[in-house]
Amino acid sequence: MSADPVIPLLGLTRSELGARVESWGFKPLHAGKIWRHLYLEGRTDWETITGLPIKLVDRLQADTEVGWLPITRETHSTDGFTRKYLLGLRDNHQIETVLMRYSGRVTACVSSQVGCAMGCVFCATGQMGYTRHLTTAEIVAQALHVDRILRATATEDPALAETDHESPHHRHERLRNIVLMGMGEPLHNYDAVIKATEILREPGGLALGAKKITLSTVGVVPGIIRLADEQQPIYLAVSLHSATQEGRAALVPVAKKWPLDVLMEACGYYAEKMGRRIFFEWTLIEGENDRPEDAHAVGRLLQRVPGQVNLIPLNPTNGYGGAASDNAAAKRFQSILAEYGLPSTVRQRRGIDIAAGCGQLATLED
Ligand code: SF4
Repeated sequence: MSADPVIPLLGLTRSELGARVESWGFKPLHAGKIWRHLYLEGRTDWETITGLPIKLVDRLQADTEVGWLPITRETHSTDGFTRKYLLGLRDNHQIETVLMRYSGRVTACVSSQVGCAMGCVFCATGQMGYTRHLTTAEIVAQALHVDRILRATATEDPALAETDHESPHHRHERLRNIVLMGMGEPLHNYDAVIKATEILREPGGLALGAKKITLSTVGVVPGIIRLADEQQPIYLAVSLHSATQEGRAALVPVAKKWPLDVLMEACGYYAEKMGRRIFFEWTLIEGENDRPEDAHAVGRLLQRVPGQVNLIPLNPTNGYGGAASDNAAAKRFQSILAEYGLPSTVRQRRGIDIAAGCGQLATLED
């Protein structure tokens, strides 16, 4: 037996797993079998893999752990579209992961940190404060958790088992999208998050398309520039919330460190280097940032950066007294953005009754 620390398998890329298996004296082809068993079958009973040497099975059992995150609590929205999971970590901290069903697709909203250091005033996670970064394995485990839930649901419901015929391994409703919009600021935990997105995209595993993964930042400028310099293919969403430095700093304290003009310069750099638009998130707060002059200010601000604005009516939290804008205000905002040629959407509100909506995730208050 090795004295090395236990290896979390979900933190390894496919090639790292291959190198590890080879370093133990086994053929790299065995790594492919392990990878498929884990990511396509969702299983860890290594001894059932045909042709896997028993000594390799012993090694896996002794020196590795998968790192599934146990469910501490599960809540379902009354409309049936959203499920929120409170998941336990090794050090007894907890995080939240949300499964959201939209027509024809399932999205996992994944956390990147325990708590968050950014302190956005309307956000329950920000109100918790920061505890620690998640590891790559803990981020990947959340996505696999949702995929396994879908697999289990298909087992309960034979009709669902026939929804996907692309692969004999995928005869269940599949996880199609990941949004890194759960607890935490993903660009504050850059290395672990980006490695997780690489693992989630690996062919022969969950094999998510890069365009099916969206990372949402509140405006961590060095991270935005790094994404562009490294040509990371995932999509980028930037939470804007106000088109003035003063207004933004009041809602998003990090704007004091990276002011609006610096952020927009970074967004322009990103859009040009990546040759693509950015999603700009705008939490609509009644009387605060949903007035016609606010919409005109956004229209002017985004003239030089190709973007799409996602309008999200505020979701309630205990620590912030603002109210959500109504439909009429959202529509008015959209039509003004259209005058500037800016495409926009109003985000479907999901999971509000179980505090699983944007900005509502926290492990202390509910
Ligand atoms: S909105 Fe995002 S960045 Fe801001 S405090 Fe909440 S989790 Fe952190």
